[in-house]
Amino acid sequence: MHEMSLMEGILNRAADALSEYKVAKVNSLTVRVGVLANVMPAAFEFAFEALTDDTIFSGARLITEVLPIKTRCPQCGKIFEQEHIPLQCPDCHTAAEEILAGTEVYFASIDFEEGDR
Ligand SMILES: [Zn+2]
Repeated sequence: MHEMSLMEGILNRAADALSEYKVAKVNSLTVRVGVLANVMPAAFEFAFEALTDDTIFSGARLITEVLPIKTRCPQCGKIFEQEHIPLQCPDCHTAAEEILAGTEVYFASIDFEEGDR
């Protein structure tokens, strides 16, 4: 289950980002997930629950935002985004295959409250 290691990496980065603050409570964690990242939402949520137990993220909400596929039309060169495959240029309707973005998973932002615990 690669969701577990993806989530581990995300939580490490999030903890790094929080290390300079006095965190009282983390409300939510926003993560962007590419359409092609092959992440199963249920497994991702499970990994979050399992890995945040007894951490500063315990009880926080996981917000997942979909990152569309970014591609370039081989015919006219237009760069466009789409959430589904097959990819097709909106201008000239040529099929596109080049993937510029849409496979990544990254931590985007955290909503937290500062103060003493
Ligand atoms: Zn085109």
